[in-house]
Amino acid sequence: MGSGPRLNDAALIRGQAFVGGRWIAAADGARIAVTDPFDGATLGHVPALSEAESTTAAEAAHAAWGGWAGLLPQERARLIRRWFELIVAAREDLARIMTAEQGKPISEARGEIDYAASFVEFYAEEAKRPNIESVTSHLPDAEVELWREPVGVAALVTPWNFPCAMITRKAAAALAAGCPVLVHPSSETPFSALALAVLAERAGLPAGVFNVVTGRPETVVGPWTREPRVRALSFTGSTEVGRLLYGQCAGTIKRLTMELGGHAPFVVFADADLGQAVEEGIKAKFATSGQDCLAANRIMVERPVHAEFCARFAEATARLSVGRGIDDPDIGPLMNARALEKQRAHVEDAVARGARVLTGGAAHPAGPLCFAPTVLADVPPEALIWREETFGPVAAIASFDTEDEAVARANEGEYGLVAYVHTQDPRRIYRVSRALRFGMVAVNRTKVTGAPIPFGGFKQSGLGREGSRLGLEAFTEVKYVCRDWA
Ligand code: NAD
Repeated sequence: MGSGPRLNDAALIRGQAFVGGRWIAAADGARIAVTDPFDGATLGHVPALSEAESTTAAEAAHAAWGGWAGLLPQERARLIRRWFELIVAAREDLARIMTAEQGKPISEARGEIDYAASFVEFYAEEAKRPNIESVTSHLPDAEVELWREPVGVAALVTPWNFPCAMITRKAAAALAAGCPVLVHPSSETPFSALALAVLAERAGLPAGVFNVVTGRPETVVGPWTREPRVRALSFTGSTEVGRLLYGQCAGTIKRLTMELGGHAPFVVFADADLGQAVEEGIKAKFATSGQDCLAANRIMVERPVHAEFCARFAEATARLSVGRGIDDPDIGPLMNARALEKQRAHVEDAVARGARVLTGGAAHPAGPLCFAPTVLADVPPEALIWREETFGPVAAIASFDTEDEAVARANEGEYGLVAYVHTQDPRRIYRVSRALRFGMVAVNRTKVTGAPIPFGGFKQSGLGREGSRLGLEAFTEVKYVCRDWA
C-alpha cells in the first residue's frame, strides 16, 4: 500500500493475487489502483489478471479438489478453525485495511470482522457434522441412503460494501462442504480479500483450495462462468450483474446462489414504541453509511404518528457525524463519485415531485465523497428514491392509513430481501409477518443477521440462502444410493 493504514502486521497487505498457493502478478504487469474513498489517495495496486490466468486459477482449484474433499472432515474442520483463530487475532489490522479501502467507520469495520469470523467458526463446526442420511426404504430388501457430496470448484464473486463478511459467508461454507474456492473480490476492496488469503495460507489450507483472483470482473469471472469444471457460482452484488451472471452460467448449468439488491421497507404502526422505532430506524437506514443491501429505504409511518416520527427521526439524523472512517464518525464517505451523484439526483427528483427536505439534502463538507445524512418526508411512490436502491445516507419517508395499504406498498417492486416492522400488537405482528413477501422479517428490531440464520431474499433479491446449515446446500450434491441386501 502507498499511504496505507498503520498495521501491527504489515505482511497482511499483499499487492499480488493468490493462485494455486502462489502469490502472483499479471504476466503482462497489468494492475488496478486501489484508492481511499475519503480523499482519493492511492493505497496501492493489485494485479489485473488475464482470462488465461483466471482459467489457470480454476485449473489449480480443480486440481486441489480431490485432496481437500478427501480429507477427514475433522481435519478440514481443524484447518478452517485455525483460519478463524487467525482472523480473530488479526481483527484490528483487518478492520483498518477495510476502513482504508472501503471508507466505513472503524467501529463498523471491527463489527464486520467479528461477523465475518463468526461464519468461519460456525462452518468449521458444521464441517464435522454427519452428511449421510438414512431413509426408510420404499423397496423390499433394499437399504436407502442419501450422501451429501461436494459439488466441486466454487466461484465466489463479492461486492465492496462488506469486503470480508461476504467472502467468509460463502467461502467457509464451501470449504466445509469440501469445495475449493475461487474468490473474485470487488476491485474497490481487494486488499481485505488478499489479507484473508494471507491468513488462509498461514492456517495451512492446502495450495489451490483458497484462491483470490483480482482483475477486471468480465475478464476474471467470464471464464469461470464458461468453465465446466467450476460447478457452483455464488454471487453477492447488484441485481443487474446477478441477472447477467445467471444468463452466463446457463451454458454449463451451474449451481447458483445469488444475494442481490434489497430496498427494504420499514413500516411503523401507530401502536409502536416510537422511541424504539426511531432508534432502530436510524440504525436500519444509516449503517454502512446507507450502502447496505439491508438499508431501510422505504420508511412508511401510519398517519397518526407520522409527524412526530418525522420530527424525531430528522432530529436524530441531524446529530449523526460525518467524516473519515478511521476517526470513527457515524457516517463515512460514499464509495465513488457515481454514488454521490445518485444521492444528489434522488434528492432533486423527490423534491421536484413534492417531497420535503427535513434535514441535510446536499453534499457534506467533511470530504469530497461525503453526503449529509438526509431525511425526505412526503416522498411519493413515483419518486426515483422510492423505486430504486438509494445506497447512501438519504432516508425517504411516506405515510399510510391502513395495514392492508402498508403491506401492499411494502410488497411492491422486484425486491424481497428484508422488511422491518414496528408494532406492539401481537396479532398484527403475525398477520403482517405472514403477508410480507421477504426472505427476512425483522420485528421491533434491526439487527437480525448472524451465522446460524439463513440469509437471503424472495423475488429478484436472490436465490438460495447463506449462513446456517442451509448455506451448505449451495456447495453440495445429494447422491442417492440404493443397496440390495437380500
Ligand atoms: P456489483 O454488482 O457492481 O458488483 C458485485 C461483484 O460483481 C464485484 O465483485 C464486481 O467486480 C463483480 N462484477 C461487476 N460486474 C461484473 C460483470 N459484468 N461480470 C462479472 N462480475 C462482475 O455490486 P456492488 O456495487 O459491488 O455492490 C452493491 C450491490 O450489492 C447492491 O445492489 C447491494 O444491495 C448488493 N448487496 C447484496 C447483499 C446481499 O446479501 N443480498 C449484500 C451486499 C450487497
